[in-house]
Amino acid sequence: MSRVGVVGGGQLARMMGEEAHSAHVELVVLAASLDDCAVATVDRVIVGRADDLDALEALSRESDLVTFDHELVDLDVLAGLEARGVVLRPSSSALRYSVDKAHQREAFAARGFPLPPFAVVRDESDLAILQDWSERHDGAPVLKAARGGYDGRGVHFPNDDDEARRLARVMLQSGGVVVEERVALVREVAQLVVRSVRGQVATYPLVTTVQSGGMCTEVRFPADVDVEISAQADQVGRDIAEFIGLVGVMAVEYFLTPRGLLINELALRPHNSGHWTIEGCATSQFANHLRAVSGQDLGATHPLHAAAVMVNVIGDASPGSLDAARDVPGVHVHDYGKSWRPGRKLGHVTAVGDELQSLHVRAWRSARAYGTTTQEA
Ligand code: ADP
Repeated sequence: MSRVGVVGGGQLARMMGEEAHSAHVELVVLAASLDDCAVATVDRVIVGRADDLDALEALSRESDLVTFDHELVDLDVLAGLEARGVVLRPSSSALRYSVDKAHQREAFAARGFPLPPFAVVRDESDLAILQDWSERHDGAPVLKAARGGYDGRGVHFPNDDDEARRLARVMLQSGGVVVEERVALVREVAQLVVRSVRGQVATYPLVTTVQSGGMCTEVRFPADVDVEISAQADQVGRDIAEFIGLVGVMAVEYFLTPRGLLINELALRPHNSGHWTIEGCATSQFANHLRAVSGQDLGATHPLHAAAVMVNVIGDASPGSLDAARDVPGVHVHDYGKSWRPGRKLGHVTAVGDELQSLHVRAWRSARAYGTTTQEA
């Protein structure tokens, strides 16, 4: 049985832990503290920082290979580990496409993948790109920190070119900035892809993701798009997996715009848009990630029901009732075992069945009883 080391002890590692034994692996996590929510479900815990070389070496000594629960990692430290023979899945060079948005945009543009029009600002002299941006691109740009952003942090929507320039100058102090056209969003969709060590690729059905304030609140299967769009999302996802040399699960988040499908970003790990696969698909994203990184064949990814709705529970001012959330019929409640804090992702609920609208109503009723702060769209 392989021992898989996981950098990070958050809810993704916790859910990997829940499926580790059925995927025939043992899990060791590198957790920031013994309060991390994955501590409850894994076989062994090492306490340390995700960017600390000694802690990562301790994790790799206990594991046959190392994978990730989050992407707040130091790519140079990871490349140094690989040079010493530690097996990282995904590799540091693959991870770079999700950790470094400037690298991803430039490499993907060169390869011809569909992207919003963008430019990279690396120093003050590049700020000239923002001159008259609005006239050339039909409005002020979106600014994104090249590294370190997640859940909408690091993404800014200035009102005009002057504000964009001021903001970009401030953002430059902590690294490069991706300047991007603010595209008209018809909706946002996400494609999960999984690739094995031997290059076998499987995809999950496309989903619609609903965002509020930069955070995902709801995920719906099937995605509300034409079959051509769904086929394109699947193909681009497979092409990206090959191009970056993926091993494990990856989520590709897309913008659906009047101009078609454009890539927003990648996550090289199980992803919030795939939590519904626990009840909704033949093999969950967590089991398939563990199978892939440990060198096994992939499990089947087909859906088990016609529809599924997943709603995130993001802490309101005070907790609701987990029992009341569980009392809603036909709903699967996943509590991450975290202490309650307003604005914190505390769990999710999934409803699977035949018809989206009734699943949507039930999943939200449960999430509200639980105490989510978000409103349904
Ligand atoms: P994060 O990496 O923090 O998740 P994203 O790059 O996904 O940030 O951006 C957060 C949200 O901001 C997106 O889900 C989308 O709703 C909006 N957004 C990001 N980029 C653009 C863009 N180019 N045009 C329009 N909206 C955007």
